[in-house]
Amino acid sequence: MFVPALIERKRDGGVLSAAEWRELLTAYQAGAVPDYQIAALLMACFLKGLAREETAGLLDGMMASGSRLDFAALGRRVVDKHSTGGVGDKVSLILAPLAAACGVAVPMMSGRGLGHTGGTLDKLESIPGFRTDLSLEQTRAQVERIGCAMIGQTPEIAPVDKKLYALRDVTATVECVPLIAASIMSKKLAEGLHGLVLDVKQGSGAFITDAERSLTLAKTMIELGEDRGCPTVALLTAMDRPLGRACGNALEAEEAIMGLRGEGPEDLHEVTLAEGVEMLVLAGERDRAAARRRLEEALKSGKAAETFQRVIEAQGGNPAVVDDPSLLPQAEAVEVYFARKSGTILRVEPRAIGRAVVEMGGGRRKVEDAVDPTVGFVITARPGQPVHASEPLASIFAKDADGIELGRRALDAAIEIGEGRASALPLVQARVTAKGVERLGET
Ligand code: URA
Repeated sequence: MFVPALIERKRDGGVLSAAEWRELLTAYQAGAVPDYQIAALLMACFLKGLAREETAGLLDGMMASGSRLDFAALGRRVVDKHSTGGVGDKVSLILAPLAAACGVAVPMMSGRGLGHTGGTLDKLESIPGFRTDLSLEQTRAQVERIGCAMIGQTPEIAPVDKKLYALRDVTATVECVPLIAASIMSKKLAEGLHGLVLDVKQGSGAFITDAERSLTLAKTMIELGEDRGCPTVALLTAMDRPLGRACGNALEAEEAIMGLRGEGPEDLHEVTLAEGVEMLVLAGERDRAAARRRLEEALKSGKAAETFQRVIEAQGGNPAVVDDPSLLPQAEAVEVYFARKSGTILRVEPRAIGRAVVEMGGGRRKVEDAVDPTVGFVITARPGQPVHASEPLASIFAKDADGIELGRRALDAAIEIGEGRASALPLVQARVTAKGVERLGET
């Protein structure tokens, strides 16, 4: 295989066959193709896009580089969810144990914080002792026993995706729809799923802020899933403000626990149930209203919270946090933030909040950075809410006075108070399937 010819073809707008993609990735995994050639090819993909067959070839090559979970003998439907990432999005922490409590097998594989967005693994690891580095065999055994495991990408799953992702991260080629779609789906499909629910975030705090491109991302992932026998549904949900109130790892773990007890914020509850209904339907439930009732009952009865306790215990964490969230790590410095003036909350800008959490130490600027689980915000201000000057709008959680100052400045920039109407995206905007797009809320 002569790699410069492949780069040249892609650079000039041509197409590589699925077989060429697979062969190239096999050679790359074996160390026979250097990073600089792959980096050049990725940039050509970024600039010229990928044809459908190329995205498929890329995905198949990534999957073939690793192993797959096999739940054929389980006797339960295996369904997972994936979020494209946002600020305050702790749905996975609630939904994985909740769906498992309703009889679905959930081998959830998640990522770490990326840019301004938080990551499920970092939130889980704020629970003292919690380990996310389970092997595939440990994951399979735990899903059989408890119905749920919550893990990171293991070295056995799509290792070529891991190499490619690291390269994209340092060559400005992350934000490319087909590359993102193949990367996400290579990990999800390796879980041996019978169904997948995608939460594709919309708005200024989303990874992809352009509405049309994020719809294309949803459709591309659906196509990849369906073509490989995994029914895939996407919900387009709002990320033009943080989801729920808590932003920051331990604060979000605490809010997720409140959500599991049925005591969380309304928007978080609604998004969780909307995704939960899709998961239960993919697992075989025919009646959407019955699916919602089953989810509500699992929250009310305590079964979902108990399943989370069992997951925490199985993965080395302290399950007592579910009854007593004050056992989660606590910030050294806390300050209440007050409205600067009277008016209407016009915006709570999620990207500014997410970036501030990273700057305060709650995310990474370099891969090797340690994360401070305690820092972040609890923001009660919602777009559209009338407020008076000096009314409390949020709390800042930081390591020290400098962190508090950073948080204060971020809230000054993120929370806009003025006159007039706030514009906010519908919480759940659309449901996308292989059949098309069903609009659910007004834009
Ligand atoms: N998450 C992934 O797993 N891959 C991407 O390319 C982007 C987000």
